[in-house]
Amino acid sequence: MEGKMRGWPVPPPKQPTKRREQFIKERRKKVRELIRQGYLKSERIKEAMLSVAREDFIPDVYRDYAYLEVPFPLPGTEATISCPHSYPLLYEPLGLTAGQRFLEIGLGSGYGTALAREIVGPKGLVVSIEIDPLTFEFAARNLKNAGYTDLILVQGDGGRGYPKFAPYDSICITAACMDIPPPLIEQIASGGKLIAPVIEHGTQNLVLIQKTGKRIERNVICEVLYVSLRGEYGAGY
Ligand code: SAH
Repeated sequence: MEGKMRGWPVPPPKQPTKRREQFIKERRKKVRELIRQGYLKSERIKEAMLSVAREDFIPDVYRDYAYLEVPFPLPGTEATISCPHSYPLLYEPLGLTAGQRFLEIGLGSGYGTALAREIVGPKGLVVSIEIDPLTFEFAARNLKNAGYTDLILVQGDGGRGYPKFAPYDSICITAACMDIPPPLIEQIASGGKLIAPVIEHGTQNLVLIQKTGKRIERNVICEVLYVSLRGEYGAGY
């Protein structure tokens, strides 16, 4: 029987059987597909998607399906690992690249965090905030097992951002909000960008914000489907 999640059919849970070599093949195929489909363009994002093992960020019972274009449920309330294409969809317009200071709201599985770490490289900084304690624990374990030790992982309400390391060159919100939380706009560096799913007229639009001095430019990229932002600036805000 197929489960349904947010419009995507989720295949049934099962014990993992695939070996690492099989996943590597599937990962390379997925990267080629995302390039062909026009989602994946920059070399650094391509390299990151080839090097991070997505299967290590997925609960065991869905591990074999790691490279399907499906979001899978994670431990915690309403957390999912997004579809593979959604990472270049967010990171390409942000222009995420080497040396940047990156803030993520919604750590989820930790997969997007690992990709960002690979993309910004040793001179960059990655901060990620997760509101759900169970999801936070899951992601922190995945990232530690994958060997990432230089990330700033915060358990709390990401709507408030993380002023300690602000401003950020790139901010990515991976949960849908009614409005972009003002503290996050505040924490964008001049010349920096923020990307977020924003609920508008009953649908979600992926919105890209670019800040130049005090000027804010706002562009809608496409329609998307994400879980709702919680906390002080959550969907009721
Ligand atoms: N980037 C993640 C996507 C996770 S889904 C991944 O691909 O794995 C969205 C996540 O945002 C969920 O884990 C949810 O718990 C978290 N979230 C929702 N509201 C939040 C808030 N105010 N602060 C931080 N995290 C939040």
